[in-house]
Amino acid sequence: MFKALVVEKNEEGKTHAAVQELSEAQLPAGDVTVDVAYSTVNYKDGLCIGPGGGLVRNYPHVPGIDFAGTVAASDDDRYKPGDKVVLTGWRVGEAHWGGYSQKARVQADWLVPLPTALTPRQAMAVGTAGITAMLAVMALEKAGIKDGPVLVTGAAGGVGSVATAILANLGYQVAAVTGRPETEDYLKILGATQIVAREELNETVKRPLEGETWGGCVDAVGGPMLARVLGQMQYGASVAAVGLAGGANLPATVIPFLLRGVNLLGIDSVMQPFENRQAAWARIATDLPMDKLEAMIVPATLADLPDLGRDILKGQVKGRVVVDVN
Ligand code: NDP
Repeated sequence: MFKALVVEKNEEGKTHAAVQELSEAQLPAGDVTVDVAYSTVNYKDGLCIGPGGGLVRNYPHVPGIDFAGTVAASDDDRYKPGDKVVLTGWRVGEAHWGGYSQKARVQADWLVPLPTALTPRQAMAVGTAGITAMLAVMALEKAGIKDGPVLVTGAAGGVGSVATAILANLGYQVAAVTGRPETEDYLKILGATQIVAREELNETVKRPLEGETWGGCVDAVGGPMLARVLGQMQYGASVAAVGLAGGANLPATVIPFLLRGVNLLGIDSVMQPFENRQAAWARIATDLPMDKLEAMIVPATLADLPDLGRDILKGQVKGRVVVDVN
């Protein structure tokens, strides 16, 4: 028997999450069984612990879109008992049972060997948010980062915190957009050199082009803020669009694309091929300072998850929650 956070749905369609004891026979089909050490809390987890957001197919459900741990049993040649592994994406924790559990059973294709430089706890401090931040930085590097500070929106959140720390470590000036002024010291510890108040970028676009300010942008917010930012990019600069914490609409004009050659780069972490995931984890191990990662960590247990799920949907989680499932 082992413990997991199980979400059930009643006849009125209301969901309820609680820690339960499960048996291995209840785990879904898969070729690798993992003793999970740590998981984390992402925005999507907030949806899957709570109302579902259209992501969860079947109940009862075990959420947790990412986890790190040790292989307990494997029917696949690539993994053997004792191997350290990490999983993000592939709709684990949404369509498949996830990491809020002491045991998980998944497809070998979904796993990545944990880089030897990282512990399972560090890997989950990074988590889906962090690996997505790394993928966004890699996409910006490929497109070319221009002069001027690199803007990070939703900076005190998971994606934003990791993006800030990586970009600062790579030597870029980082301008961090936050709606929480009390996080200023935290963002400066991560390496932000400039704090931009959320209100400054909240208004909808009035002029399609403003001053050329930012050399690149990792955007976790979307919505009207992303539309404003497009008009403030340097000539030829790129925005990596990662998230929608501020809305899914993009009330923008095409003028920044046509007159300034601005690029909008879409970042998906869920279906990334194995090679890209491995490359991103390798870059995390070299380019994310572990002392800064440590500063982002908020420790939690399985029992804390119902509250944390609600908090992240309200934008009230700072940095990276690391869930010790044992
Ligand atoms: P968090 O909740 O940790 O961070 C989001 C941050 O956005 C908040 O901390 C807050 O930062 C800011 N924010 C929240 N609400 C608003 C608002 N209404 N207007 C402006 N800013 C707001 O979430 P994550 O970092 O885990 O994820 C960020 C986004 O990225 C989510 O939309 C998530 O779904 C998406 N995502 C996408 C992935 C992909 O594969 N493309 C993978 C992972 C995440 P502050 O307090 O500093 O203002």
